Amino acid sequence: MKPTAEIIAIGSELLSGYIVDTNSSHISRVLSLGGIQLSFISAVGDDEEVISAIVTSALSRSDIVFTTGGLGPTIDDKTRASVALATNRQLVFEHDLLMQIESRFSNWGRKMSKNNMRQAYMPDGAIPIENPVGTAPCFIVEHDQSRVICLPGVPREMKYILDHEVMPYLARVFPSTDVIKTRVLYTVGVGESVVDSKIGHLEEMSNPVVGLAAHQGIVDIRITATGSSEKEADQLICSVEEETRAHLGDVIFGADGQSLASVVLGKLENSGHTLSVVESGTSGDLARKLVVADNGKGVFQAGILLSHFSSNDNCDVERDMEDMIQSYSTNLESNFVIASAVYEKENDIVIGVALFKSDDKSMITKARGFGGHVKYAGEWAANVGLNLLRDYDM
Ligand code: ATP
Repeated sequence: MKPTAEIIAIGSELLSGYIVDTNSSHISRVLSLGGIQLSFISAVGDDEEVISAIVTSALSRSDIVFTTGGLGPTIDDKTRASVALATNRQLVFEHDLLMQIESRFSNWGRKMSKNNMRQAYMPDGAIPIENPVGTAPCFIVEHDQSRVICLPGVPREMKYILDHEVMPYLARVFPSTDVIKTRVLYTVGVGESVVDSKIGHLEEMSNPVVGLAAHQGIVDIRITATGSSEKEADQLICSVEEETRAHLGDVIFGADGQSLASVVLGKLENSGHTLSVVESGTSGDLARKLVVADNGKGVFQAGILLSHFSSNDNCDVERDMEDMIQSYSTNLESNFVIASAVYEKENDIVIGVALFKSDDKSMITKARGFGGHVKYAGEWAANVGLNLLRDYDM
């Protein structure tokens, strides 16, 4: 049986909506790859008794309880006291911890303030975890059949300690011979419901587990398999991948971290072509993706970012895209130019894309209504534009 876990995200700012709880989603992903079954996620404000009550019930039902946040030096950082209360322990002063905190401040050339002394207290008998990337010391309290693992709120610190200290600790406490492997396939040009209608039967399997996640025109298909050996996990993934590809064909453009921009640039590089872009009404989403994927190779040459190409709300979008290409493509001197634009028309958002080939001056244009929030429209347009070039027969 897989060990069970739950996460308690601590901090009143999480409840007021000023901070989104990305720590819990990160911990969830890491746990699923570590073969640990997550059962609950809760968020709770900076209230010692409420935190203590939730830690108490979490310890009674889960093998592993994570907390994030509330380990800082201020009066509203309640995690240490709450966990001490929940596990019937005193908070005790740890001289070694104080030395660690002091030396961290002196390495940064700063003087430790008096309230940082609070961070040198821990529930009696806790296992300390040094935090080399921040000041908040972390700890684990083993209690009855369970344990509570207290991590910092700052995402960068939390991730570091989870990877370097906590996952190795859990592997020692819950040794498992199972191997868990994941493969992620990416589709473009079809919505999540279309993908679901074609491979919904695979999403009902228990091993491998198949899940979908949609982002602005791209759908991830995550296949996670558990096997008694790496070979067995790979075989399980391989048969589901084959079936997925048979149902979806070439709407799958890549796998395991490959971006659509890198696939498109790879195709251009192989055929000795270059690309530039012109964007209007976006935040430069298309150029940004290409700069990252090109990584200085020079296949992506240049991008022009316009605040708005057309001031006419009722313009014909496809016509406007043609005009945009005519106005800028001669300056760009690349073999291909992609244009992408976002238009807000009264209550509607429309995106336009165009693909232009310089040598024969041929052009493909597309206009589509966008149902999401305007801040995501530029990224969606970028993916639709890149997909025009991916589909292009060179
Ligand atoms: P510090 O010593 O920096 O105070 P801490 O463990 O006490 O560390 P918090 O004070 O609770 O952490 O949070 C510090 C910052 O970390 C918050 O202001 C917020 O920006 C971020 N943070 C906290 N909790 C989360 C969370 N669950 N998800 C994402 N970010 C978070």
